[in-house]
Amino acid sequence: MDMQADKNPAAEWLTANRDRLWQSLMDQGKIGETAKGGLNRQALTDLDRQVRELLIQWGKDAGCDISIDKIGNIFLRRAGMDNTLPPVMTGSHIDTQPTGGKFDGCFGVMAGLEVIRRLNDLNITTRAPIEVVAWTNEEGCRFPPCMMGSGVFTGEFTLEEALATRDAKGISVAEALDSIGFAGEKTVPGHAVGAYFEAHIEQGPILEDAQKTIGVVLGALGQRWFDVTIEGVESHAGPTPMQLRHDAGLVAAELITYVNRIALEHAPHGRGTVGCLDLFPGSRNVIPGKVNMTVDLRHLDSHSLNLMVTGLKARIHELEELHGVTVTLTPTADFAPLYFADACVSAVRQAAEALGYEHIDIVSGAGHDAIFLAEQAPAGMIFVPCEGGISHNEMERADPDHLAAGASVLLNAMLNAAGKEA
Ligand SMILES: [Zn+2]
Repeated sequence: MDMQADKNPAAEWLTANRDRLWQSLMDQGKIGETAKGGLNRQALTDLDRQVRELLIQWGKDAGCDISIDKIGNIFLRRAGMDNTLPPVMTGSHIDTQPTGGKFDGCFGVMAGLEVIRRLNDLNITTRAPIEVVAWTNEEGCRFPPCMMGSGVFTGEFTLEEALATRDAKGISVAEALDSIGFAGEKTVPGHAVGAYFEAHIEQGPILEDAQKTIGVVLGALGQRWFDVTIEGVESHAGPTPMQLRHDAGLVAAELITYVNRIALEHAPHGRGTVGCLDLFPGSRNVIPGKVNMTVDLRHLDSHSLNLMVTGLKARIHELEELHGVTVTLTPTADFAPLYFADACVSAVRQAAEALGYEHIDIVSGAGHDAIFLAEQAPAGMIFVPCEGGISHNEMERADPDHLAAGASVLLNAMLNAAGKEA
């Protein structure tokens, strides 16, 4: 990536057009709008077609070349001086959850469009081309898995497996793409990318709580998931004295508090969750003889994540001894932590700093297209606050000033990566 330094940086920091960005978000937010002011615009539906066509029209109006690949990802390309260079890319998704908001994903695509419009306003020609992409089916709610379009683009999933995926009504991705006219020609896996940036609402409460405008995203948490089975002895709740019990339910309770504690001990990036818990036989006057539960541990740092797993295993061993139960721990997912490229993270931080926005370093606890893109290009993300940290909800809200700040940071980070006329 060309991270050409500005000769006179103070004079070079650009800002996005706040009202135009907000208007685009509100305009796209009419397609599939729900009574509560959110969006229900699931992937590859007719509503998805309508917003795709709107985006393409906006791209053409901004002078972009439009292309569509075989999984329906849409690329708006603004030519650079040297079009043999791989593009500096930004984007996100315009599909939503059934009860989604107007900002999750849509902000990243509209911010990218605003970058192109702003470069047009200012007559700036970048050295490398600029591309804005709308990835197909990021949400994965109609067609699992999530991040399908970026996964196919980066070779994480094959085109064949993605196209064969069916929704609950038995309609395949291939059929749905055809029916909305978005089975494109461009081959996948896709073209080389010079650098990738994605702006997104945080979908969590950290920025709002810290009263910061910009989250400089360092990376994404690593994840270790387990199924846990605890086997004790079922017996009568009355005649069995406390000291003679092998209570699987009690051990489950001890594990829940341990999972919480180990995550707190590895703050601020540790996370520990028990999301599922089933007690057997599930009778009020029987001591539980068996429990099935899940454990989800996350951390940004592999060493810390390993320590959390080691701690969990040691605690399980103690509880087995103490309560005379047998615990089986079965791993079900293992994702290494992901660190975004230093150059991209620095470009985001530097832009936020220079533009005078309050910012903090943050990590992504959720999945994003940028995580797949990071496998093939230097990548980075910009977070802006959302009200109450609420997302995947029709009540999702974001402040126009915060969104404009995010788009301004994106604009400068991309310009830095793409280079401009000497
Ligand atoms: Zn999203």
